[in-house]
Amino acid sequence: MNYLHNSKSIKIAGGGVAGLSAAISLKKLGYNPIVFEKCSAIGENRHGDYEGLENWIFSTSMNSFFNQVGFDFNKITTFPISKFTVHTKTFSPLNISSKKPFFYMVKRGRNNQDFDNQLFDQCKDMNIQFELGTKAPKDSSIIATGTKKAAAYIRGINFKSSLNDQVHLLLGHQFALKGYAYLIIINGHATLASAFKKNKRKNIDNIQNCLKYFQSIGIDIVDGKEFGSRGSFSLPFGNFKLPYLIGESGGYQDYLFGFGMRMSMISGLAAALSIASKKKEALALLSDVNKKRRVSFINRLFYERLNNYQLASFANKIANVDNPLSVLSSAYKWDIKNLVRWKKINKNYEIRPT
Ligand SMILES: Cc1cc2nc3c(=O)[nH]c(=O)nc-3n(C[C@H](O)[C@H](O)[C@H](O)COP(=O)(O)OP(=O)(O)OC[C@H]3O[C@@H](n4cnc5c(N)ncnc54)[C@H](O)[C@@H]3O)c2cc1C
Repeated sequence: MNYLHNSKSIKIAGGGVAGLSAAISLKKLGYNPIVFEKCSAIGENRHGDYEGLENWIFSTSMNSFFNQVGFDFNKITTFPISKFTVHTKTFSPLNISSKKPFFYMVKRGRNNQDFDNQLFDQCKDMNIQFELGTKAPKDSSIIATGTKKAAAYIRGINFKSSLNDQVHLLLGHQFALKGYAYLIIINGHATLASAFKKNKRKNIDNIQNCLKYFQSIGIDIVDGKEFGSRGSFSLPFGNFKLPYLIGESGGYQDYLFGFGMRMSMISGLAAALSIASKKKEALALLSDVNKKRRVSFINRLFYERLNNYQLASFANKIANVDNPLSVLSSAYKWDIKNLVRWKKINKNYEIRPT
């Protein structure tokens, strides 16, 4: 099938962060991307929750990263987070802080100050064409329609809060089986969520357990608006070729904690470069991202084996080092040890060979 035609018009299925990143990069490379989004607005299918642009998996500063993927970071509303508190069964709450931010929090959704809408605005400023409320045609060159498989789940609530800005991480299977839960309060808007692996035998009400716990330490949470979502942790098959599968459709995410925004954006850029016959540059980007994905996958296998005490000990260790951000970064380094680990496990999982 001929996906690319002379007009340089490129169809993109899905207007999430991956699709928007591919679109803006294609436009800058001289193409005419058309983004097909089945919802009637960009960001409509997001939940108004806070999500973090992590600051340790990629070494580039946030500013240069956004510049690389075609966006102006200064036009994005973010909330840098340099400290947070970890709660475990074993230790008293652990305060973890860093000179540089751990995260730049963004609010996901369709409103003015929301990340998705602000990326959309930058695309519109570039005169990118959007077909909103329209399912993508079958001959789309780029597939950025998000995850299909579900291996992990996120349930949460968004609510208003009069408390000061604060971020909490809860570790322990009662809060999130093989995962983690978090409470983020910024500017009077709060997200409490639990990201967990499903287990048919255990019926744990993570959110209730989180609420009870927070109440016990004096943080009262009145009911909020519930949301739920899912994610996949399986590595996809195949080469990077037309139609390009990017973002969560292509499995571009951190398998340890589910950070997917920056990887989605890079995969969008890689698809644009490939279409513009800059295959070498695209493959260099993907090769770097794939190493991070593989390490994160190895880390997840380890993480899932940890019991509550081991999880707490890990958090305690991070709380007591001078530079916790660099410890987190080093956990994503592709080194000989991880290469050997990967060689042992990769036959059991799908991989993208680049
Ligand atoms: C609750 C939650 C919390 C998260 N927290 C973080 C975090 O803190 N940090 C982080 O980095 N990542 C986080 N992630 C992951 C991150 O949000 C995703 O990895 C990222 O947004 C994926 O972007 P995407 O563009 O690939 O997919 P999506 O955002 O899913 O976008 C896909 C788009 O395609 C559209 N679509 C689907 N099918 C069609 C079709 N047939 N035709 C047209 N359009 C279609 C959908 O409507 C949607 O708009 C979180 C995810 C969730 C659910």
